[in-house]
Amino acid sequence: MRLALIAHDEKKPALIEFAKNRSDILSKIDLIATGTTGQRLIDEAGLEIERKQSGPLGGDMQIGAEIANETCDGVIFLRDPLTAQPHEPDITALLRLCDVHETPVATNLATADAVVDELVREKEGDGFEDYE
Ligand code: PGA
Repeated sequence: MRLALIAHDEKKPALIEFAKNRSDILSKIDLIATGTTGQRLIDEAGLEIERKQSGPLGGDMQIGAEIANETCDGVIFLRDPLTAQPHEPDITALLRLCDVHETPVATNLATADAVVDELVREKEGDGFEDYE
């Protein structure tokens, strides 16, 4: 089970808070993240994270590649809808790939819980012992 975590700068505190709240589950699955988001999750939420490049340097596309390879089971991407991002095409491409591959993706906190719950449900369906 492998989940990608990404947050734009304005949303990073919210993602860190979310990760702390769900750390019981998040600490049991593989986590990947864009560079800056990942470093902050390591430092502030104490999670183990495989860090990709920072978003503007290609991190979103690296996560997109995992979606295309179907090695990533879900994405939580807290976007800042009020600030223009220099790498908007990469973000759009990542979200498109999630739709192509039917990968659960949340772009706000209201659905982030739902994505984590879905991963737990899938994992339990596979008889994953860590969730007993
Ligand atoms: P960052 O990238 O975690 O390196 O800030 C996130 C993004 O902007 O996609």
